[in-house]
Amino acid sequence: MPIIVQKFGGTSVADAEKIMAAARKAIAAQDEGNQVVMVVSAMGKNTDMLVDLAGQLSERPPAREMDMLLSTGEQVSVALMAMAIDALGRKAVSLTGAQIGIRTDSSHTKARIQSISTERMQTLLDEGNIVIAAGFQGIDEDFNITTLGRGGSDTTAVALAAVLRAASCDIYTDVDGVYTTDPRKLPAARRTRQAGYDEMLELASLGAGVLHSRSVEFAKKFGVPIHVRSSATGEPGTMVLPEGESLQNPVSGAALTKNEARVTLSGVPDRPGSSLQIFTKMAEANVPIDMIVQNVGAEGRAEVSFTVVQSDLSATQAAVAAVVEQIGAERYTIAEDVAKVSVVGLGMARQSGVAMRMFRALADAGINLRMITTSEIKISVLVEESRALEALQAVHDVFELQRPPADARPFRLAPPSPAEPSDAEPSDADAVAVVEHLAGMEDLRIEEVLLDESQARITISEVDDKPGIAATVFEEIAAGEIFVDMIVQGDGAGGRAAMSFTVPRGQLEAALARTEEVAASIGGAKVTSSPEVAKLSVSGIGLRTHADVAIRMFRPLAEAGINVEMINTSEVRVNVIVDGARGTEALQCLQQAFADVMR
Ligand code: ADP
Ligand code: ASP
Ligand code: MG
Repeated sequence: MPIIVQKFGGTSVADAEKIMAAARKAIAAQDEGNQVVMVVSAMGKNTDMLVDLAGQLSERPPAREMDMLLSTGEQVSVALMAMAIDALGRKAVSLTGAQIGIRTDSSHTKARIQSISTERMQTLLDEGNIVIAAGFQGIDEDFNITTLGRGGSDTTAVALAAVLRAASCDIYTDVDGVYTTDPRKLPAARRTRQAGYDEMLELASLGAGVLHSRSVEFAKKFGVPIHVRSSATGEPGTMVLPEGESLQNPVSGAALTKNEARVTLSGVPDRPGSSLQIFTKMAEANVPIDMIVQNVGAEGRAEVSFTVVQSDLSATQAAVAAVVEQIGAERYTIAEDVAKVSVVGLGMARQSGVAMRMFRALADAGINLRMITTSEIKISVLVEESRALEALQAVHDVFELQRPPADARPFRLAPPSPAEPSDAEPSDADAVAVVEHLAGMEDLRIEEVLLDESQARITISEVDDKPGIAATVFEEIAAGEIFVDMIVQGDGAGGRAAMSFTVPRGQLEAALARTEEVAASIGGAKVTSSPEVAKLSVSGIGLRTHADVAIRMFRPLAEAGINVEMINTSEVRVNVIVDGARGTEALQCLQQAFADVMR
């Protein structure tokens, strides 16, 4: 009998009536001939309330006790759900994370799932029960209760669907699908009918809170189809599958996160190993970092900037202060008034000028870009927090995301048939085999490490920090039909911005001439370049959620004395630019560094 996992979020179980409605959905699925596992979140804003309560007692509540507290929200919901189903005349059993056997590591409040035992659930299902699982929680080796991080019930649901080999995982929520951006922030957002795993992964981790990004990691790793739909209507919503809705559109979605903080370390000794020390310190503090930008400064001193989420600020501050001392950097600054606006799309890897269009739209709105990082399938910029919504609107408009793409796929419930497999996706059996050799289900998995020796780097520094410069530079480059690959921009010496990007080697001279022209026209900017750089790319699943990836990469490079000139990170790929003469050596370093987690 096929198994269906149905997950109900907080608003979908906010009161008795809603719990009853959810119970009826599960019964309907059972009547259609399925075995049903429900995953339920805490009722309404219960988790927020508990967080708030803890905050009234302590500034930094012990993480173990926080998990003890937060896990109670889900325990209430599962018991009530089981009662509702019982009242409707069906058999149901509620289970906590521990009772299911969701084993996690011990990183309280952001624990990762290591294994799940299916026996008890399967027996209960075979006996005709609807199994009701508490979302968001697990148990570590020492029987401590752990939680998976806010929004983690989605991850429980998809993980259960993966281990039970469920036919589908329905995520019932308070929107009727995945939109081009958060419809509460931008009413013009359009619902998509199909979202691809990679795009959804990026969007989820860049602020599209409709799915917990780690749930999409599971979906991709194990090939689980996810159906995001409204608990109020029960109408079909959005399928999350290996492929997205359009092949043509360069951008498929946009996202905004307001709770960002930018950290800049200035006067960092420009030698191999400095970045390593910084990222090691951050990982030790268990703070994930994002939007890493490194710029070569004057007199052998570099500037390293990155972003963290504001909730990690106190841990960040302590770690950064210590590392500044340790490496002999001059100082650090932290800006909290920033927001990150991102666009995502597989199609941007095949089209030139996508970044330019985004920068122009923002420049025309008079919005300054305080940081830029791009990767193959996403572009993120940091803007002033007070202009964040306007920025989101501007990029949504410029890529016409409200209009359905001409080649939009129609909604389809069924997962892709074996007749049209995507070669990028491993089969289910492959995924299970790979996971078996990893220690835990959520462990980092690396698919490949690649060397690209076809690029050159251009850096334009000492640029006045005002709106429009990035747009002007890339318009000029695009006019020469030059494809720009990586772009990073951050603070440069003396608060003036510095921006580096890569272009095909054969087009370096043309690109350089154009950049110099722009530099001359804006006055005072300095242009440098390197004709031969090597780009190393590491791709896989879990690259951003595993804080140690940066260290794994930087340690062997630093030990080999290879300086990293540019970095960018995304959910599915991390790229670094190093000296062109050391490319092959760097490739070997990285292959070795990830050998234990290669598929
Ligand atoms: P649940 O409690 O059901 O897990 P969440 O609040 O976690 O619900 O997620 C649903 C919310 O996600 C929506 O109300 C919406 O505001 C927000 N959201 C953010 N980005 C998107 C997007 N791209 N598409 C749809 N909803 C989004
Ligand atoms: N109740 C938890 C939270 O609010 C988990 C979830 O709802 O996904 O974050
Ligand atoms: Mg959620």
